[in-house]
Amino acid sequence: MRKILMSRIITNSLSVGENFARRGIGVDTRCKLCNNDSMVMETMEHLFRDCPVSRRLWATSDIGIRAENGSHLPVGRWIMDWIYYLDKQERSAERVVMFLAMIWCLWSVRNRVLFQEINFHPNMFFSQWNQIVTMADKALEMKSSASTMNESSDMGSQDDQVAWIRESKPFCVVGSISDCDHVRIMVDAEWKTVDNAGIGWVVLSSTAVQAEGLGIYGAMKWAVDQGLRHLEVSSDCLSLICSLAGIQKAHHCLADILADVDDIVSFFHCLAFSYIPRSYNKFGHDLACEAMYS
Ligand SMILES: [Zn+2]
Repeated sequence: MRKILMSRIITNSLSVGENFARRGIGVDTRCKLCNNDSMVMETMEHLFRDCPVSRRLWATSDIGIRAENGSHLPVGRWIMDWIYYLDKQERSAERVVMFLAMIWCLWSVRNRVLFQEINFHPNMFFSQWNQIVTMADKALEMKSSASTMNESSDMGSQDDQVAWIRESKPFCVVGSISDCDHVRIMVDAEWKTVDNAGIGWVVLSSTAVQAEGLGIYGAMKWAVDQGLRHLEVSSDCLSLICSLAGIQKAHHCLADILADVDDIVSFFHCLAFSYIPRSYNKFGHDLACEAMYS
């Protein structure tokens, strides 16, 4: 999404007030940051560089940029010039990240002011900016420590990885994910040539019952793919089996999974869910353990 933002800035195709006006779309085209103080049309130059609010943010940020320098340039060119300049400085990676985080946060905060109808406050901007920069710093640290490891231990330790997973903050694009039970899928790909690539992902769930639910749904999807229309699914998670069978109310974290199960139920000619004590579910249990630790 941040790559898309930069390409839209450079191609002057971002949905700012000026571009709406050009297309004859009747929306408020004033700057959303200094909206109360001026009648200035929101252009990309104004939003990212020339707005008095943006200039104050640039000047008070840790990279201390005087945004008025280069104000004769189109903003896409102005951004590229700054990246080029910062890339030649000491701690270039951190400074480029700080700069790009400023651009991203200006756009993000502008959207929050517009769509959530809230008043702009610098704290709103800098809390998001700090979050991004802190995350990027950690990523850069991990990258540099990984590059010093030898070939055979290219990955961080398991403890490092668990700590990273716990502390990392996501960039929410819809809703707020930090305070709800949610499933996290960690994806990676290995690419060597056009016909030699691999992809994989690991599912991390918030609760044990959610993990069991995902397991059951995944197994049922597999059965659908295999054309197995007569199915009994056994699990050692009694509360989940009762929820699937409609005997008890499901935990709210299972709502999405149960809806997905409902979508494929009609495929089966017969379908049953049964409880099996863990001691009798050794094959499934051993396989799940192997997946978790591999
Ligand atoms: Zn403004």
